[in-house]
Amino acid sequence: AVESNGNTEASIKIPTQIKFTKLFINGDFVDSVSGRTYETIDPRTGEATTRIAEGDKEDVDLAVKAAREAFDNGPWPRLPGLGRRRLMMKFADLIDENVEEIAALEAIDAGKLFSGLKAVDIPVAAETLRYYAGAADKIHGETLKMSRELQGYTLREPIGVVGIIIPWNYPSNILFLKVAPALATGCTIVIKPAEQTPLSALYYAHLAKKAGIPDGVFNVVTGYGHTAGAAISSHMDIDKVTFTGSTEVGRLVMEAAAKSNLKSVSLELGGKNPFIVCDDADVETAANLVLQGSLCNKGEVCVASSRIFVQEGIYDQLSKKLVEKAKTWVVGDPFDPRTLQGPQVDKKQYDKILSYIEVGKTEGATLLTGGKPCGEKGYYIEPTVFSDVKDDMRIAKEEIFGPVISLMKFKTIEEAIKRANATKYGLAAGILTKDLNIANTVSRSIRAGIIWINCYFAFDLDCPYGGYKMSGFGRDFGMQALDQYLQVKAVVTPLYNSPW
Ligand code: NAD
Repeated sequence: AVESNGNTEASIKIPTQIKFTKLFINGDFVDSVSGRTYETIDPRTGEATTRIAEGDKEDVDLAVKAAREAFDNGPWPRLPGLGRRRLMMKFADLIDENVEEIAALEAIDAGKLFSGLKAVDIPVAAETLRYYAGAADKIHGETLKMSRELQGYTLREPIGVVGIIIPWNYPSNILFLKVAPALATGCTIVIKPAEQTPLSALYYAHLAKKAGIPDGVFNVVTGYGHTAGAAISSHMDIDKVTFTGSTEVGRLVMEAAAKSNLKSVSLELGGKNPFIVCDDADVETAANLVLQGSLCNKGEVCVASSRIFVQEGIYDQLSKKLVEKAKTWVVGDPFDPRTLQGPQVDKKQYDKILSYIEVGKTEGATLLTGGKPCGEKGYYIEPTVFSDVKDDMRIAKEEIFGPVISLMKFKTIEEAIKRANATKYGLAAGILTKDLNIANTVSRSIRAGIIWINCYFAFDLDCPYGGYKMSGFGRDFGMQALDQYLQVKAVVTPLYNSPW
């Protein structure tokens, strides 16, 4: 049953208070230069949680100055790798020690499930630090086989000051998959969290300091995208910007980088991810994977399975099963352990999803279940299943980023591949079949950064992740991510008796 959040909220003790609301620059929590603050909203109620310092260009300038000084003259890039590793390990341990408090902050800020944050998101953030900490003392160059009488080798050096701009759906995980490799390589950083979810990043700043990360290495400027975010992407003294967010804003970030100092850019952007379910799939398994793929984190996932291609032989059975399961999917307070789906992150997102549901109905898709808000307050939406979705409908083409399942029928696997690829995006895809040849053919044919065969959301720190096409470029996770934060320098000397 879909439960109102009002039923459970009173009985839940929230294990946190908000301690950090100011910008973190050069090792200190400070007010913004303008003195301005903004409200951060609790999506469970739509009411303000607290006020946060509103950083702007002047604050970004101060943070970059601190990061620049820490990079150019401070100890961090000059420490032997094992020195950085020790401090990063300590930082990770402090995250683990405070897991409940951070999980609660993020549940209040983003409407994410407290149980999931405590068991997965926050521990994985700490593990991400450990994964890259282990690499800090293993970053090597190469000895070159030069064709003449020269000796040559390469050094892999940190790129410098890194600007990190992130969205609100995974505030801890997306933060650390950028922070951890940047710190391991010896870079210094300026973080701009999403305006909706600043609380955990500020808490992490306090832990970074406690762990002994030197002042100026880890800076956080909270504020809006068009001001603080834009100041990062256009800054003349930032060497690299790594961005996760919408394709639209990713384009602005790249444009600003090009127009300023040609800083290096990597972009992780939107997706409209196909999940192909073949006739031979087990219906129960398929339904569970589709529900997880589409409704996990209330559908606010860039790799959500947002186009479900179902082969005609299993279509009716799967639709029926999905409707049954969606009706018992519990929507409610994210602190209630029974809840499977919390509120959408904010009013804007909530309105956007509801308007896409209206568009789906108007365009002729069949609404099988859901489609309405729920609860007396806050931004809760019923799990929604549409069938008869056609490729040219907006709900099949545009990113909804909400708890909406769109079912599309196909006959042959060739047709499914063609339709799955008919999108500007290329982030992720799934295929469910017992036929190995089909699974392998599909995985080679779909143009996307990750293909899940007989599973979905199978993430691993060691598995690179990123987009094809307009889903961006650059890879997070895995050892390859280190390359984003490194430069290669060649060093050449003549050999004895060489003509040089
Ligand atoms: P968004 O693009 O609106 O905002 C992302 C970040 O960019 C925020 O911190 C925002 O303040 C900042 N920003 C906004 N305007 C800016 C500007 N002009 N210059 C610089 N920064 C600016 O995205 P969102 O609404 O926060 O997140 C949802 C989007 O993110 C979806 O499209 C989703 O697919 C995408 N996303 C992608 C991934 C991935 O790994 N590919 C992961 C999560 C979310």
